[in-house]
Amino acid sequence: MKNIVIFGAPGAGKGTQSDKLIEKYGLGHISTGDVLRNEIKNGTELGKTAKGYIDNGQLIPDELMVDILAGVYDSFGKEHKGVIFDGFPRTIPQAEALKKMLAEREHNVAAMIELFVPEDELMNRLILRGQQSGRSDDNEETIKKRLNVYHTQTSPLIDWYKSEGIHHHVEGLGTIDEIFSRIESVIDSL
Ligand code: ATP
Repeated sequence: MKNIVIFGAPGAGKGTQSDKLIEKYGLGHISTGDVLRNEIKNGTELGKTAKGYIDNGQLIPDELMVDILAGVYDSFGKEHKGVIFDGFPRTIPQAEALKKMLAEREHNVAAMIELFVPEDELMNRLILRGQQSGRSDDNEETIKKRLNVYHTQTSPLIDWYKSEGIHHHVEGLGTIDEIFSRIESVIDSL
């Protein structure tokens, strides 16, 4: 059982690399961004609350995220090979909640993979994605806010996971396949 946290700034390529990991290792995928966008599409209470935060480039409050965590994880059943957490945790309280939820099930996170991409490249990628996908939070103003939120609230998790002894730095520039082979070396070494 190998649970992996795929970590990085908005636009780092977490979703793209997650898809390749799922295919190669048969892991489940928990993308909290996708979970929230689905709630918005279905018009649920959570979706209505989430939309205000997302369109403003802010994080959804930790309590709400932590509330849905165990349910989503347990939906993969007891005998899964592991899941990829993509977009979760984004704050230290979320990382602590994840650790506790997994410990209660005698599970853990085997590795945190930090996809590192320089700021100017992140900006270019997200603006391009906004033009192509029409995602409401991929416009220049909201992107700047999200990058700022990443630096203040999310990046402290790098040191948090270093102190857990499971942080792995991966260069996120290059072709999709080049980046994936760097990730494969980390996973195959676990
Ligand atoms: P990627 O480029 O990998 O798609 P992203 O940061 O651009 O990453 P999502 O992970 O899809 O996009 O997240 C979109 C938005 O959803 C975030 O800006 C935030 O408002 C909200 N969100 C997603 N996950 C969380 C979380 N764990 N805690 C709080 N808010 C979250």
